[in-house]
Amino acid sequence: MMHAFFLSFSLALAALQQPPADAAPAFGFPVKCIVGQSCLIQKLVDHDPGPGRRDYRCGLLTTNGHDGIDVRLRTMADMRMGFAVIAAAPGTVLRTRDGEPDVSVNDRAALDGKDAGNAVVIDHGEGWQTQYSHLRQGSIAVRAGQRVAVGDRIGLIGLSGNSEFPHLHFTVRHRGEVVDPFVGTTALPLCNVEARLAGLWTPGAAQMLGYKPAAVITGGLASTVPAKAVTERDPPPGLNGRQAPMILWVDAIGARAGDRQMFSITGPNGQIVHDQQSVIADGGLSWFAYSGKRAPAAGWPSGRFVGRYRLQRGDAVVAQIETPGWIK
Ligand SMILES: [Zn+2]
Repeated sequence: MMHAFFLSFSLALAALQQPPADAAPAFGFPVKCIVGQSCLIQKLVDHDPGPGRRDYRCGLLTTNGHDGIDVRLRTMADMRMGFAVIAAAPGTVLRTRDGEPDVSVNDRAALDGKDAGNAVVIDHGEGWQTQYSHLRQGSIAVRAGQRVAVGDRIGLIGLSGNSEFPHLHFTVRHRGEVVDPFVGTTALPLCNVEARLAGLWTPGAAQMLGYKPAAVITGGLASTVPAKAVTERDPPPGLNGRQAPMILWVDAIGARAGDRQMFSITGPNGQIVHDQQSVIADGGLSWFAYSGKRAPAAGWPSGRFVGRYRLQRGDAVVAQIETPGWIK
């Protein structure tokens, strides 16, 4: 009797462990970069069915109708250095496109429907597909019909198609419907979803993808205000002598109305040469800000200066950067 009991129990367990129909693959992070260091998450999937925008944590790190996750690089130089885009799960390459130039969409007359730019689509079976968009021209390393393993390089991060900055737009679809890999197909309530507890990511990817409501992409000390668009500050200006102004600039993600931003610049002996704070009136997914001052009558002293920027929400610092510059 005991034996029969165990037998039926284990059969029941086996039935429970049957994967549901169309079980999703676990997705690895699709870029060889470290989030928060060499790359940043700029945008998430929009969950607002109307004209508004809402990410899986009910934050604003998305735009209306955005159907993927944007993994961006900090500078054009990083794009040229080359960051590999890799298959998020094993599968078969369905289709590829190459030949689109790496220029900002603002500098193109027409995209002719090629919004994804250079792109790869991988089929993972059971109706699951992933798409990798805006890849670098000439970097596509796979062809249609080819089997790929998770982690195989399929291209490099680029700027092709409908793109204003070097990034990968990564989309997951199941039977043609967009799925947010942070949420998966289960009807989880939004807002409190934790990436490491839910969703379709592998544990390693989920670990790296904790929700960051704001971040500084890049910044610097310069004698002139750089262009807001990353494509137009390549390379960004630097400090230009003892008589020129000194400006701390930052390019950030996710500033909000009511946030406090603090700029400070210290000189070669640690003395504060500039200090300014303000409360942000509007904010936005993309946030470009700067503050600085003219050179003193005697000119700046020679040596190393350090610019510090902090974005504060309530008592919490949500983003910051420290960036050096030199006066000869
Ligand atoms: Zn995107």
